[in-house]
Amino acid sequence: MRNILFTLSLLLPSAAAAAADQPNFVLIFVDDLGYADIGPFGSQLHRTPNLDRMAAAGRKLTDFYVTANVCTPSRSSLMTGSYPRRVGLDENEQGRWVLFPGNREGLHPDEITVAEVLKEAGYKTGAVGKWHLGDQPEFLPTRQGFDSYFGIPYSNDMGHDSRRQPYVYPPLPLLRREKVIEQEPDQRLITRRYTEEALRFIEANRQGPFFLYLAHTMPHWPQYASTRFAGKSKNGKWGDAVEEIDWSTGEILDKLKELGIDEETLVIFTSDNGGAVRHGADNAPLRGGKGTTWEGGHRVCFVARQPGRVPAGTVSNALAVSTDILPTFAALAGASPPADRVIDGKDIRPLLFGAEREPTPHLAYYYYFMSHLNAVRSGRWKLHVARMGGRYPDYEPNPVSELYDLHADIGETTNVAERYPQVVERLRALAAWARADLGDGKKQGKNVRPAGLAAQAVTLTAN
Ligand code: MG
Repeated sequence: MRNILFTLSLLLPSAAAAAADQPNFVLIFVDDLGYADIGPFGSQLHRTPNLDRMAAAGRKLTDFYVTANVCTPSRSSLMTGSYPRRVGLDENEQGRWVLFPGNREGLHPDEITVAEVLKEAGYKTGAVGKWHLGDQPEFLPTRQGFDSYFGIPYSNDMGHDSRRQPYVYPPLPLLRREKVIEQEPDQRLITRRYTEEALRFIEANRQGPFFLYLAHTMPHWPQYASTRFAGKSKNGKWGDAVEEIDWSTGEILDKLKELGIDEETLVIFTSDNGGAVRHGADNAPLRGGKGTTWEGGHRVCFVARQPGRVPAGTVSNALAVSTDILPTFAALAGASPPADRVIDGKDIRPLLFGAEREPTPHLAYYYYFMSHLNAVRSGRWKLHVARMGGRYPDYEPNPVSELYDLHADIGETTNVAERYPQVVERLRALAAWARADLGDGKKQGKNVRPAGLAAQAVTLTAN
């Protein structure tokens, strides 16, 4: 394919030349992994030799954020380049924080996903793993730009293995494309099976260009690992699952090398939200974790590698967001993000390929907890404007005014609001912009789009 494109490029210089340069993308998106759960981000507990070598050959982003502290809203941004509130997936119809099996909602079919952008640009696209953007037929990955799909379409505790009896959901489905091929698959094998599937996809599409989205089910609760890893880590089931994901990453890096497509493949490794501390995650030195708008809920580990392109062994401290994946991949593919709607992401090629001190393109980053704006970061400053209180289903935010200097105080220990009234004022103005544009609680934003809504909810079952 590439040879043909090269030949064509002699005849059609601009378009085909761009196509010949299109890198492959492997996007590894781990579920609930903590900021410090891997060696490159300081883990002393987990053995992650493959991620260690990936970081040594690539670049770490220390200030990379996802847009939510739980699964569904975070994934909506990865796919669309937009904040969850912009695409209507900040919370579900019942005001719960993620989608549940049989919910009518999902990522709207009119949304243009990163997979659709790349497919349009000539990429083969494959999704393996957790989806969690709707389990109704019209919302599945194969309807959102992916040529293929293999995985458990939502969280692995939403089945009959949940230890939350009585069972309220159908048996946990494993899908190939849109068909349930197994119920209650053996979760000890899930990381291995996802990895084998990912390797097959890479082999089959080695001519490129391809986009592989590998969204691990682990180490989301309940954690499992295969025999080779179970009981072997120093951090219980959590550590076992993390170490198996490290192995999986190594298999992928090795496969790229074996196929000789190492240098034309950008591999990114990151997490969908902060680490679930009560299950064994480590977010140090960040405060809080999954389900909070402290740094530990929204800031995640991030490693990028493309030999010869991403400078080896480097670190960027510039603020970047998961919304940036779509415009950045689009630019690298010679494509454009959708121009008929608001996209929050920025092209962060300079942060991946340029000098370590390249500045962030973001004026601000907004921390939403479900539908509620809780904090805003600009530069080194983070202002908390509200904090969720109570317990589900009565989450209501309490107004707060706390300013933290994230450069001097990454753990958010010392409120300096009184010392810097002008900074507080500037960040309050940014928060006001977000409330108007994206909305806040029941206040509707002026630039938002609806979630998809199935006419009648159906259940994913095997037949
Ligand atoms: Mg998650």
